[in-house]
Amino acid sequence: MTPAKTSVHPALATDPKIQRNAALHLGLDIGGTNLRLGVFRGLRLLSEYRTAPDLSEVCRHAGNREDAQRLVVRLVGDAIADALCKHKQVQHIGMGIPGFVDPGNSLLLQSPNLQHLENTDLISPLQKRFSLPVCLVNDANAAAYGEYLLARPHHSDLRHLLYVGLGTGIGGGLVLNGQVYPGAHGSALEIGHLIVEPNGRVCGCGNRGCLEQYASASGVKLSYTEYTGCHKTARDIGQMADAGDRSARQAFWQAGRALGQALAHLQKILDADLVCIGGGLIGSWPWMAPAVQSALDADLIPILRGRTRITPSSSADCAGMLGAAYIGLETAEVPHDE
Ligand SMILES: [Zn+2]
Repeated sequence: MTPAKTSVHPALATDPKIQRNAALHLGLDIGGTNLRLGVFRGLRLLSEYRTAPDLSEVCRHAGNREDAQRLVVRLVGDAIADALCKHKQVQHIGMGIPGFVDPGNSLLLQSPNLQHLENTDLISPLQKRFSLPVCLVNDANAAAYGEYLLARPHHSDLRHLLYVGLGTGIGGGLVLNGQVYPGAHGSALEIGHLIVEPNGRVCGCGNRGCLEQYASASGVKLSYTEYTGCHKTARDIGQMADAGDRSARQAFWQAGRALGQALAHLQKILDADLVCIGGGLIGSWPWMAPAVQSALDADLIPILRGRTRITPSSSADCAGMLGAAYIGLETAEVPHDE
């Protein structure tokens, strides 16, 4: 496993309550093609480990649920074992995964990236192997909770936080009254499939005009190709926007407008204190933000206009691991150490 660069959120590095506590918490961000593990003391990231087992490929070749479960549990378990070797004070393990997790029994119901893992128990074999409490949550919910924990010191009145992760797709998570809201079936906040363009681009979900087709990395690529006929990665388009390329900036403006429309709908329902935007596209936030704001100004009702606080994530992509670790902590019902 590769040790990654260790970072400390500036607001938390000097918190004396956090410095004193010796208990460690392990949070995992399980992606389709990479696995990240963060060891936290309080809210401080002590160590981060990355490995790339390509679980999507492993599951695709597994053929059935039993094999997929066995292989994923072994690969994830081996990564956990490495981290625990170096950090023996870890008291519990929280895992964020891209998929729907049953809020009642924590089974992974389905993951678009991990074939064959329908209705699968990933927790029991890991609890047995490590004799530690393990929990499993949706990755966007984990990121929402991590962002909530990081934002709370700066917003004393913070209770409700909406998180939107702009990556290859779009994930959403909600913290309501300080608790993650998974919904009745673990499928709340499927923000990427809010329809923002009737009769728009065809989406993988079968509908047309979903937010994901405009405001994700894939959506930005589609917009850029529509304008120019050229195929570029979202990272390249971001760099071209930074360098002043008009088509690249237009693609991000279109993404921002679609995101602003969706956020206006969501805020009319939720009235969240804070909306946090994260994910791989966040480096290009300056090219989206003005369009987000103009769409909000146009679409919100007067009582909400100008009162929706939107912030780009400053967690350096650690919120998912942090949130998973802390949801795990609360699930394990061991003392909270903030
Ligand atoms: Zn869709």
